[in-house]
Amino acid sequence: MKNYLPLIFAFFILSLSQAQTDTRIYDIINDVSAERIESDVTTLVNFGTRHTLSDTVSQTRGIGAARRWIKSEFEKISSSCGDCLEVFYQKNLIEKGDNARIVKDVEVVNVVAIQRGTKFPNRFIIMSGDIDSRVSDPTNYTSDSPGANDNASGMAGTIEASRVLSKYKFESSIIYLGLSGEEQGLYGGKGMAAYAKEKGWDIVGILNNDMIGNITGVDGVVSNRDFRIFSEPVPPTETEQQRRARRFYGGEVDGISRQLARYVYKTTKTYMPEMNPMMIYRLDRFGRGGHHRPFNDAGFAGIRIMEAHENYTQQHQDIRVEDGIAYGDVLEHVNFGYAKKLTSVNAINLASIAWGPPAPETVEIGGIVEPNAKLRWSKVEGAVGYKIYWRDTTSPTWDNYKYVGDVSEHTLEGIVIDNFFFGVAAVGKDGHESPVAFPNKVFR
Ligand SMILES: [Zn+2]
Repeated sequence: MKNYLPLIFAFFILSLSQAQTDTRIYDIINDVSAERIESDVTTLVNFGTRHTLSDTVSQTRGIGAARRWIKSEFEKISSSCGDCLEVFYQKNLIEKGDNARIVKDVEVVNVVAIQRGTKFPNRFIIMSGDIDSRVSDPTNYTSDSPGANDNASGMAGTIEASRVLSKYKFESSIIYLGLSGEEQGLYGGKGMAAYAKEKGWDIVGILNNDMIGNITGVDGVVSNRDFRIFSEPVPPTETEQQRRARRFYGGEVDGISRQLARYVYKTTKTYMPEMNPMMIYRLDRFGRGGHHRPFNDAGFAGIRIMEAHENYTQQHQDIRVEDGIAYGDVLEHVNFGYAKKLTSVNAINLASIAWGPPAPETVEIGGIVEPNAKLRWSKVEGAVGYKIYWRDTTSPTWDNYKYVGDVSEHTLEGIVIDNFFFGVAAVGKDGHESPVAFPNKVFR
């Protein structure tokens, strides 16, 4: 027996200290179905137009019919998991003239499906897609506007993720969210972020999916493995004091949205190594917008997940042929195998975050003019241990870590604070981690 004990002990330490793989994550990847995504995108396209200002009475055409179908789909999924989803509309009335794209009063209606967490019911990770579509003129709400890629793909991916993940139980809550009013000025996201704030929801972040189905780029590149993760550097809500502190202690590229982007990057590289996630260090495409932004505006972490190679002749276009080019966001251009992959990327990150513990609320760092960097942090419920991450100041990813067990402070011997950035993540019993928390306090 005495020969086995150290071995068992060593194995225990090893299993805790290494990046664990949870085989359920591979099941989730495999369960996402390209066929079901194709079927859902087709259904959404067949509503003719899903323009935010379009018909709401017809059962077959317009955004009203589309949102009723999305809600009924979530309800169907819920009834096959013992009512595991809370499904409802979240609405805001926007008055004519609010901006130039609101040419009449309109109720912007989001569809919300909440899979309630068993341990942290008020902690949420969100996946979103958009319900609405548009053609060349943003106020044209009657012409056919299939919006197959922009953004039935993101909406269908969100529905499909709920089908797959509703078979599991999670510690934190997951929200599957269909947002409206995106093309009219990000109204649905604005309304939903305000609703979340009013309810006092603890939002880990939003994975906003906007165009996850095009693999043939206007740049001539065809790739079904590349995709982009957009994240802003620091929250727009930071205080003057925080801004000043950044100048002396760092953090210019380490805001909460950026940590969420790194999390998605890492989970993808761990479980779907064939994919090529590109972290883009900006809020969104140059001068363009998406529905994660209103969440960022409200102080929540949020990123945009999307194809790497866009095709502008297939976005926001009247359906037509001009100089031999077929314009329009039609079904034929969507690659469903690719949409499946990006849906899997979302699903495994939702699962990993919802199975993992929350990040430490406070992380303090010290070690000025000393040979060692020191960290201490507030412990979180449900963590079996913590990982200290660090990286070169020029590196985009958390390249080094040390698992330090169930403690609340640690000294990294011989690691000089000046030459790296540091952070702390909480680790749960199945090896799932929180996003990395960047230090928010300094001690001497
Ligand atoms: Zn769009």
